[in-house]
This record gives sequence, structure tokens and C-alpha cells, in this order.
Amino acid sequence: MDVEQFRKAGYAAIDQICDYYTSLEQRDVKSAVKPGYLLEQLSTTPPTKGEAFPAIAADFQKLVMPGITHWQHPKFFAYFPSVVTFESILGDMYSSSVSNPGFNWSCSPACTELEQLVMEWMVTILGLDDVFRTSSGKGGGIIGTSASDMCLTAAIAARERALRVLAREHHNANGTATPTEGPTDIPFSVRSESTNKLVIYGSTQTHSIGVKTALLLGLPFRALPVKAEDGYALRGDVLQAAIEEDIKKGFVPFFVIGTVGTTSSGAVDYIAEIGEVVRQYPTAFLHIDAAWAGMAWALPEQREMLRLAEVNKYGDSVCTNAHKWGLVGFDCSLFFVRDRRDLTEALDVTPTYLRTKEADAGTVIDYRNWQLALGRRFRSVKLWFVMRGYGVEGLQAHLRNGIDLCSDLASVVSKDSKFEIVAPPRLGLLCFRLKKEGANAAELDGLNVELNSRLAARPDVHLTQTILKSEDAGEIFCIRFAIGALRTTKQDVDEVWAEVVKDSDTLLLEGDRLKN
Ligand SMILES: *Cc1c(COP(=O)(O)O)cnc(C)c1O
Repeated sequence: MDVEQFRKAGYAAIDQICDYYTSLEQRDVKSAVKPGYLLEQLSTTPPTKGEAFPAIAADFQKLVMPGITHWQHPKFFAYFPSVVTFESILGDMYSSSVSNPGFNWSCSPACTELEQLVMEWMVTILGLDDVFRTSSGKGGGIIGTSASDMCLTAAIAARERALRVLAREHHNANGTATPTEGPTDIPFSVRSESTNKLVIYGSTQTHSIGVKTALLLGLPFRALPVKAEDGYALRGDVLQAAIEEDIKKGFVPFFVIGTVGTTSSGAVDYIAEIGEVVRQYPTAFLHIDAAWAGMAWALPEQREMLRLAEVNKYGDSVCTNAHKWGLVGFDCSLFFVRDRRDLTEALDVTPTYLRTKEADAGTVIDYRNWQLALGRRFRSVKLWFVMRGYGVEGLQAHLRNGIDLCSDLASVVSKDSKFEIVAPPRLGLLCFRLKKEGANAAELDGLNVELNSRLAARPDVHLTQTILKSEDAGEIFCIRFAIGALRTTKQDVDEVWAEVVKDSDTLLLEGDRLKN
């Protein structure tokens, strides 16, 4: 494709994208295709000769689009929102037009400096402590792919920090000098003897990134119990008891995940309680997973409920996804650390061929030393475009719209005696289930599993289910209604809720008929 062909294809692509957005509401939110639908239609032989682009673009519309679930649809209420804006789409376009691996400042100076700037903005917008600013010289922020990657990154930083603490203890005990700091300075004996004693803590409500991080590091994850009475949030005394029990067995606490806005129900762990516990153990590190809810720190009125002051006081690292509710297309995970040496001392293994005079002089940041991979995408453009295009007020208006719609829905649901709200509604997330007089726990679960599978079979309704697990209320199967798409209005919520009510009435009526 030459420049003129690109110009033409580019204009045509923008037209098709615009047509997609203007027709979005007329589509069903869910794709109705069967497994294998696309593979059956495409040739398994790679093309020998190049094709003209219009034919390729036409196949995207004809073959790929039917297999797309419309996350930008105003009636998308499944999982969590994954909002993209036109500013973000354009940002991705510009950033891929100057594609580069961005690992060093000198790869393309603007890539590093724009990221520094927008992460500085995000500290201000989210109300994070100044220590998380890169300009503080101590902490800093970096944009990554996903909350999963950032959790693993934080855990690796925490592991190396814990090993350094142990190495220092080992040296002190043996009367030798303290080792110098750095990933390669931990004596092999300490690394080999201590690594397998490290334990990760979270709750049964922690996102599966906790289990996965543990799996990737080959270490145990302790999923601590929570209570429905505490709103499914983890408490400090439960953590403390678990840590003490493990220490007695010779294990070492090194990584604690505190969640602000759990995936199942939006629960906010008791961060101050957890933080006070973590502080007692020099090997322990507190990572705050606020992947979904953290963007709502942009709203001053939500900060107390979302325990921002506690996060600022106790969090060693904090992650929130701008690519969920935050108007920036996937991927844009915002990751902040209190002490960036935790990252560089774990991840800086600069070989000669990657050294530059700017980095050696300490005048620039090389983000490769803050992350797992070497190369990185130029993600800051889309974040910069979105924040400039919307302004803080535009972002706030979008977040408030989702919260207001959810609280309207919660009041409708709470007035309908057929239903029960099973966890405190949080921001844009409502967990509900059908209830039925005289039904036991198993019957209620059965009823709700059936309602969920009927809703799941419909192309025009897209909700997801979860199981809330607690010590005091057992396991509760429920349905999540997650609001936060960009174009969702009250009418969209009302229309989908009316369908839920309709299916519920039918289901209850069938049950009554069976009985009679
Ligand atoms: C969505 C979510 C994650 C996972 O986010 P990815 O960016 O997809 O890895 C982790 N934790 C919480 C609380 C989430 O809501």
C-alpha cells in the first residue's frame, strides 16, 4: 500500500467506524455466532500473493464484525465497562503511525516524557499522594498492559525487596557487611533458601490475578475469608492471624493484595487495617488492586468510600485501569509505586548494548527498568488525547452518569419484592438475585442459575453472574448489572431491567404451575 492508497483506505476506514457507531444502538449487544463460525469461513492457507486492501476491509465487515460483542453498546452491562472514545482511537492511530519499542528514553524521547507528564496528571486527577509522582524523585507511575501484568510486576518487586531484607538479616547475623542494593546482589544461598518460603495474601474476593501471580512465581496464594456482614471486604485481623500462623511454620509474608472494588461485588477492603498489619513485617509489601473502581477516585465525593487516604498512606503500589471505566481504549493500565527503587532494583539488568549516556548520567528515565518486558507501546498518546479532549470535568461527568444510573436502578430493584440486592451497590455495579418465599439456599441458587441462563441465551441482554462467598452467608449465586458504557442512558437501563423482570416473572410462574 502506498501513501495515496493509505489515504483512501484510511478515509474509508473512518467512514466505516462512524457508520458502526451510528448504527450501534440498532444492533444486539451480544454476538450470536456459534463456536468456529469464523474459522469455517476463512482459508487456513496463508495468501501467497498480496491482495488489494478494499477486499480485505470488506472481509472485516462481512466476516469479523458478526463475531463482535459490542462493548461500546449503550446496553452493555456485563463484566465491567471497557470504554473507548474517539480521542482514544485517534491516539492509538497516531501512536502506531510512529511505532517504536520505546524501551529507552533515547528510543524516542517524546514517548518517555509524554508518559511522565500524563502519569503526573493522573496523580492529580485521582488525588493520589505526591510521593506517587515521578517528579517526587522517589515514587512514580508507568502505563502497562493490564492489571494482571502490573500485579505480577509489583509481586516481583516485592519478592526482590523481601529477599534483600532477608539478605541483610543474614549478613547481620553473620557479622558481614550489608550487601549493596541490586538484583544481582542477593546471595544465591539466600535466594535459593528463602524464595520458596514466600507467601502471597488476598481474600476469596481477590481477582484471579492474585492466584495467577502466585502461580507464575511458583508461590502459594492464601485466599482469606471475608464476611457478608463486612460487605465482602477483607479485614486486618484475618490477615494478621494468617500471617502469624504462616510465620510459625517458617513462611515469610511478602505480598498482600488489597482490593478497592472487587470484581464480584465492588467490595473495598479495609485498607488501613490491612496496612497496619503489613507495616509490622519488613518483608511485606501492599499492592492495591483498584483496576475498576480506582478511576472513581477522580470524584472527590467517592474518595472516602474508596479509602483513598488509606491507599495514600499504606499502599506500596497502586493499579487502576483507565481502559475500563476511564474512557481510554484497551490497553492502558495505570501503575504507581511509592518507591521506584523497588522496581529498578528488581528489574534493571542493563547490558552494555542498552546503555546510553543520558541514562548513565541519571537525567532520564528508561521505563524498561520499571517493567517486565523490554519494549513497550506508546500508550500515553491516547491517555493524553482523552484527558485533553474530556478534561477532568468530562471524565467526572461520565463517571457520575454511571453511578447515578446505578443508584436509580438500585432503588427500582429494592422496591420490587421479587428481588434482593445481595451486596451493597457500589459505584456502577449492582448484584441482585431473585428471591422466593420458603425457598432454601439450594433452591434459590437453582432459580437464579436458571434465570441467568435464560438471560445469557438472549442476544439483547448482556449481564454476567458471580458467586459471592463468605463465612457468614455461604455461597450466593447472583447476577451482576455493571453500568458504565459511554452512551448508556436511563432508558437503556430501564429497558434491559424490564427484560430481566419479564424473564423473572415467567420463571416464577412456571415454578408455581409445576407446584400446582
Ligand atoms: C478487571 C480487573 C482485573 C484484571 O484487569 P486486567 O487489566 O484485565 O488484567 C483485576 N482486578 C480487578 C479488581 C478488576 O476489576
